Amino acid sequence: MTAQIIDGKAIAQEVRLEWKVRADRLIARGITPGMAVIIVGNDPASKVYVANKVKACAELGLYSIHIELPENATEAELLAEIETLNRDPRIHGILVQLPLPKHLDAHRVIEAINPDKDVDGFHEKNVGALVTGETPFPSCTPYGVMVMLEKTGVQIEGKHAVVVGRSNIVGKPMALLLLHKNATVTICTSKTVDLARHTRDADILVAAVGKPNFITKDMVKPGAVVIDVGINRNSEGKLVGDVDFANVKEVAGYITPVPGGVGPMTITMLIANTVRAAERLSGLNK
Ligand code: NDP
Repeated sequence: MTAQIIDGKAIAQEVRLEWKVRADRLIARGITPGMAVIIVGNDPASKVYVANKVKACAELGLYSIHIELPENATEAELLAEIETLNRDPRIHGILVQLPLPKHLDAHRVIEAINPDKDVDGFHEKNVGALVTGETPFPSCTPYGVMVMLEKTGVQIEGKHAVVVGRSNIVGKPMALLLLHKNATVTICTSKTVDLARHTRDADILVAAVGKPNFITKDMVKPGAVVIDVGINRNSEGKLVGDVDFANVKEVAGYITPVPGGVGPMTITMLIANTVRAAERLSGLNK
């Protein structure tokens, strides 16, 4: 059996058009959804991510700004920028590109963002709301995975979902979103004993580990839905996921490629969260 490839680019395009309709509705009322990205330092990967976010906003007619602070910016300077954006009525979504330089406390910085503008969904208020199932801003990567599953017609309720990885930005919110859709969820970490025993039992397997080709064919149940969140460079400098795609696709039922899988969905859901933030801040939506 060869797996059906889930085309993240195509789904992302479709979802962007859906959100463009909602953005246009706001624009027609004189409210242009606006996003601000703050980047501190010169990390080349972060710069690419920020440029992609700003470009995606422009393509959909959203307002966006990006603020670059030097590597040695102080926490007070960064917090002052956030405070200005919190008060700026043109800005509905604020995100601070992570990771931050080591001398800055990411937790304090995120907590300074107005939770109504926290389109990354990292503020404790929104994380708490995610636990109870009512967050307006699910974190973008797991949110994108959920939309992909829905658009692909994957049944989640009653299925065993195994999430490998427990980071605050991917693994944990992923597990919660699957749980809210009535999957039976297992979370695996670096401390899990006999990982393959768990992954082989997964109907839906999400890999968010950060290790190239970590999930191998023998770790996957025939017919499983395999979602590869990982973005890694292999020894030849090529972009690869956490899943050994070439071999796993021989056993899986569905699989996402890297690139062209989860990646395009992440930015799309950032747009979605920004439009939703604009709707909420202008009283058009809860
Ligand atoms: P983190 O490094 O924060 O978390 C990795 C997780 O993997 C940890 O929970 C860790 O466990 C777990 N892990 C590590 N080794 C093993 C192992 N041997 N067995 C089981 N679990 C293990 O990474 P992120 O969650 O931030 O990102 C994961 C991947 O997803 C990365 O490749 C990243 O680049 C990518 N990514 C992709 C995005 C996209 O848009 N497609 C967005 C965000 C991330 P423990 O907690 O015990 O250490």
